[in-house]
Amino acid sequence: MSGTPAIYLDFAASAPCADRVVTAMLPYFAEEFGNPGNAFHRYGLRARLAVDEARDRAARLIGCLPQEIVWTSGATEANNLAIRGTASSCARARSRGPLHLVTAAHEHKSVLATCWDLERDGWDVSYLQPPPSGVISAAMVEEALRDETKLVSIMAANNEIGTLNEVAAIGELCRRREIPFHCDATQWVGKLPFDARAACVDLLSWSAHKMYGPKGVGALFVRFDAGRRLAPLLTGGGQEGGLRSGTLNVPGIVGLGVACHISGAGMESEAARVDTLRNRLETTLVGAIPGAAINGDPAKRLPNITSVTIPLETDRDLVTELREVACSSGAACSGPDDGPSHVLLSIGVPRTQARNTLRLSLGRPTDTTDVDRAAEDIVDTVRRLSRGSRATGRPAARAR
Ligand code: PMP
Repeated sequence: MSGTPAIYLDFAASAPCADRVVTAMLPYFAEEFGNPGNAFHRYGLRARLAVDEARDRAARLIGCLPQEIVWTSGATEANNLAIRGTASSCARARSRGPLHLVTAAHEHKSVLATCWDLERDGWDVSYLQPPPSGVISAAMVEEALRDETKLVSIMAANNEIGTLNEVAAIGELCRRREIPFHCDATQWVGKLPFDARAACVDLLSWSAHKMYGPKGVGALFVRFDAGRRLAPLLTGGGQEGGLRSGTLNVPGIVGLGVACHISGAGMESEAARVDTLRNRLETTLVGAIPGAAINGDPAKRLPNITSVTIPLETDRDLVTELREVACSSGAACSGPDDGPSHVLLSIGVPRTQARNTLRLSLGRPTDTTDVDRAAEDIVDTVRRLSRGSRATGRPAARAR
């Protein structure tokens, strides 16, 4: 990448901590250093009160009880706890016969790699193939369910293309069939309203750093009676109702609480603002670059993410050629050696075009000037690369 990128459009990878988050966290590094597990003296008590307040705020954001929040080190751990925890609990219960889990092929790697592990332990996993729209419907899940299905794990919003799955309908289906439903809502929480109880979710993961909180902290909502079907990954002092031992990351948890509080207020107006900017960016790109195609269902999407595939014949990766825009081609958690994005391939983007895909994700600081400058940089870069190698002019992917 040449020079320092000036326009950050990678908020789906990580967002900066909000000032109020940093301010709220600071005292808990040194002054208020007590262990919330030792609340019988005032140091511990003050830390405990801060954690309790954060728990209330997190619970309010997703419509659950404070006791149903389990703090984790992020969404990766929350996803692992939900899936491995359910699997270990089945093993402990000596569930006889085949063990089956339903997930989707375009889930985040923290879900997929965990499912691959379960397969090595003898689980049968159905990976639903998304249609080009990227949306997993309740009907698709229903078709995959079996008598021996022990868990359904379907994300709320995809982190690369932003598409929204039919979470409430899937939740309702699972509740009816008495199958636990885990939902990775990392990209959704804080961007759009979410009510875990109304959506019939049993386990819900999310992460602070996608919503202007700190890195290294997240949460798993565990519906009160779903906890009985979950075995901990970390054992020790029995914190978090025995589901996640270890001294709590008090500054991080305080930061997550404040991030939840901030995003709860004004969420809908911010979503509308970002949606307008995202549409403006897309309109410019699609208008200026022949064959540029937006990936995923244009209506059922998060407001802040767009994934654009550009028909280019070049051996260079478009994302690294941009001069001013910091964005990604796929998920931040996939390394350059991982090959084309599994999400793009799963919705039918040709392998050769997946590397010419930009995931542009907008955030609170993004304004009209940013999206216009970003569009200009992308269009200029595409023209420069096309002059070098000649753009095919063929549509890269069907408009989805
Ligand atoms: N799930 C999704 C959908 C994500 O986007 C991410 C972050 N890329 C994760 C899980 C992992 O989150 P964390 O960084 O908190 O481990």
